[in-house]
Amino acid sequence: MVLTEEEKAEFKKKGEIYRKIEYEINRQIVKLELQKGKLEKELREAIPGTPNGTLICKICYVQSMRYIGRTPQGELFGVEEIYECEICGHKEIESNLF
Ligand SMILES: [Zn+2]
Repeated sequence: MVLTEEEKAEFKKKGEIYRKIEYEINRQIVKLELQKGKLEKELREAIPGTPNGTLICKICYVQSMRYIGRTPQGELFGVEEIYECEICGHKEIESNLF
């Protein structure tokens, strides 16, 4: 089936409209990504932290977990780094922290 000249013109018009929509939507996505980055930075900077804290305590929501050593060799899940909260004393292995 061959397109008529009218159909071709109609498709070209639709393509032009689509191109404008695509441009506008991509422009909005870029703006939102920029805003997302700013918000994530704001969130990171808002985390309170104790002087020795390197990871966030799940209980206190403060970067107050300090490294205290490793689990002994030969345990079920292998050697893990252990952290302890300087505020509440909660202990956690590194793989459970963020
Ligand atoms: Zn804590």
